[in-house]
Amino acid sequence: MHWPENAITGEGSARVSHTPGNRYSAYCGVVSTAEVSAAHDVELVLDFLNTVDVEQRTDVLDDLARWRIWLTERDLVDDPSVRATRDGLRAVVGGPHAPAFPAATVRIELVTATPTLVADTVTGAVLAAATRLSVLGEWDRLKICPADDCRWAFFDRSRNRSRTWCSMRVCGNREKARAWRERSKLGQAQ
Ligand SMILES: [Zn+2]
Repeated sequence: MHWPENAITGEGSARVSHTPGNRYSAYCGVVSTAEVSAAHDVELVLDFLNTVDVEQRTDVLDDLARWRIWLTERDLVDDPSVRATRDGLRAVVGGPHAPAFPAATVRIELVTATPTLVADTVTGAVLAAATRLSVLGEWDRLKICPADDCRWAFFDRSRNRSRTWCSMRVCGNREKARAWRERSKLGQAQ
C-alpha cells in the first residue's frame, strides 16, 4: 500500500484532489458523515446503472458525445471495461446468478487522514462506491425494476427493504392491473 508521504499532516488530501481523474473519489472521502457519503455513492451507482434506459431505448454508452458529458459532469475518466462493468453490475443487482465482470483497480490512500478508496477511472470509482455501500450493509437496497419495459435501477429506502417496483404509481400499478386481468381471464375460462 502506498501512503502519501505528507498524509500525516493532512496535506496529502490537497495533492490527491488535484490529481486528474480521482477528484470524485477524493470528495467522497472527505465528507464528514457516512450518510452524505453513502448518498453520493448511491447517486453514482444508480446514475451508472441507468446509463441504459430500456423504456426510452437509449444507451448513453452508444452515444460518445453524451458519454463524454456524463463523465465530465462527474469528473471521471473513461476506461475500456466500462460497458462490461455496467452490464455486469446490472446483472448482479438484478439477480444472484450473475456472471463475473472485469476487476477494477482501486487504491487505498489517506485523504484528510482517512483511509479512502481512490480510483483513476469511472469503473474504479463506481465499484469503490458499490463496495462502500456493501460495507455499510446497504448493497441489497439497490434493485432493478422487474418490469420488462422498464428495468430502471433504484435504491429501496423502505424500512424493511421490500420494494419491488421502481415506482408503485407506474410499474407497480401496471403490474397489479395485469395480474387482475389475468385473474379475470382465468375466471371467465372456468
Ligand atoms: Zn419500473
